Amino acid sequence: MEQTFVILKPSTISRSLVGDVMMRFQRKGLIIAGIKMMQLDEAILREHYAHLADRPFFPLILKSMMATPVIVMVLKGKDSVAVVRSLTGATNCRKAEPGTIRGDFGMSGQENIVHASDSPENAAIEIALFFTPEEIFDYELPTMSALYAPDEL
Ligand code: ADP
Repeated sequence: MEQTFVILKPSTISRSLVGDVMMRFQRKGLIIAGIKMMQLDEAILREHYAHLADRPFFPLILKSMMATPVIVMVLKGKDSVAVVRSLTGATNCRKAEPGTIRGDFGMSGQENIVHASDSPENAAIEIALFFTPEEIFDYELPTMSALYAPDEL
C-alpha cells in the first residue's frame, strides 16, 4: 500500500495538538508505519525544503522548523498521499477549508501544523531522508476488512 510522509511541525508540538492531529489520521484509517521525534537541523531542512531556498521567507521557515523537536511519521493506506494532502488542507491555515487539519487548528501560512508529501515520488524521497528502512514497519490493522472492500486491497 502507498506510503506518505508527515511532519507534525513545531507549531503542533508548541500548541499541544499532537493528539488531536494524530487522531485525524488514525480515525481516517491510515496505518502508522513509522513514527519518531527528532530535532531538525539546517542541513536536513535545506534538503527537504530545497524548492523554497530562494524564497524571501526561507530563513523564517528554517527558524520555525527548528524551534522545537518535531514528530515525523510514515502513514500507509490506499492513495495515502492524496488522502493525507486532502486531510491537511491548503498551505495557509486561514484559507484552508474548515474540517481540514490546517483549517481547524491554525491561523498562519507559515505555522501551519503539518507537512505532508505532495506526490508519491516526493513521499519516497522524504521517507528516505528522514527514516532508515528498519524504522518502518510492515503490518496490517485487524480492521482492514472493515476499512476496505476486498477489491480495494
Ligand atoms: P505545503 O507545505 O502546503 O506543501 P509549500 O511546499 O509551498 O507548501 O511550503 C512549505 C512550507 O513553507 C509551508 O508549509 C509553510 O510552512 C511555508 N510557507 C510556504 N509559503 C509561505 C509564505 N508565503 N510565507 C511563509 N511561509 C510559507
